[in-house]
Amino acid sequence: MSNLKRRLEQPRGLNRFEKSSIIKMIKHLPDNDILTTQINQARVVSVCDCGCKTVDLRVPFNLDKYICNRRVPVEMVVELGGDLSPILFQLHVVDGYLNELEILKLDSTPICEEIDISKGAVEVRI
Ligand SMILES: [Zn+2]
Repeated sequence: MSNLKRRLEQPRGLNRFEKSSIIKMIKHLPDNDILTTQINQARVVSVCDCGCKTVDLRVPFNLDKYICNRRVPVEMVVELGGDLSPILFQLHVVDGYLNELEILKLDSTPICEEIDISKGAVEVRI
């Protein structure tokens, strides 16, 4: 999927959906104040055009690093119901900084549905 990543000419801040998804996931992590500071300054530098909602993130390197032993310390699954494949969220941290928010449908088909993250099941992986 990453072959369809498109770099934005003008990096943007996180939109409300991206931000609330990350906030819901990091709530379950230790020392998440560091990540909260990072999301407030994170910029979206590229998006994916495959039909998923994955974005690449960049955070100023002067902020405190978030030290964890996994690239994906937390993930979340949102069921869409019916015959639809669930949506998987994975938060990637590289060298202490938020690097990618991966949002994809588990059967790799485009996401056309509303995603109600209030139903999200969060799993900490560290
Ligand atoms: Zn994609």
